[in-house]
Amino acid sequence: MTEKPLPAISAASAPYWEAAANGKLLLQYCAACARYLFYPRSWCPHCYGGALEWRPASGRGAVHTYSVVHAAPCVGFEADAPYVVAVIDLQEGPRMMANIIGCAPETVRVGLPVEVAFEKRGAISLPQFRPVAA
Ligand SMILES: [Zn+2]
Repeated sequence: MTEKPLPAISAASAPYWEAAANGKLLLQYCAACARYLFYPRSWCPHCYGGALEWRPASGRGAVHTYSVVHAAPCVGFEADAPYVVAVIDLQEGPRMMANIIGCAPETVRVGLPVEVAFEKRGAISLPQFRPVAA
């Protein structure tokens, strides 16, 4: 069985991955324009400011859109199919792409409330999302 690929960790994203390893979701926040951003980077995509800080995120959001993958397009994911790839509207504002885990793919809907769930993958913990328990 081929292992799933791991993300490349950069200087800008290292705090994000360190927090994820401890079960915490962090987002960068730009104090200059009072907005959160994702993915991790060295400058704000809204105002181009460089004074970014890391803040704990709620880990909550809702499914903006999604797709059910029935035939894994790359090695390492065959055993997961069918699985859900989704774009999540985080409560803080940014959108984040992740898998929806812990539920049957056919139960996922646009607007479904979700919360972060961390998938161990090798040496890292990958933020994924699962439905919020009713
Ligand atoms: Zn900004």
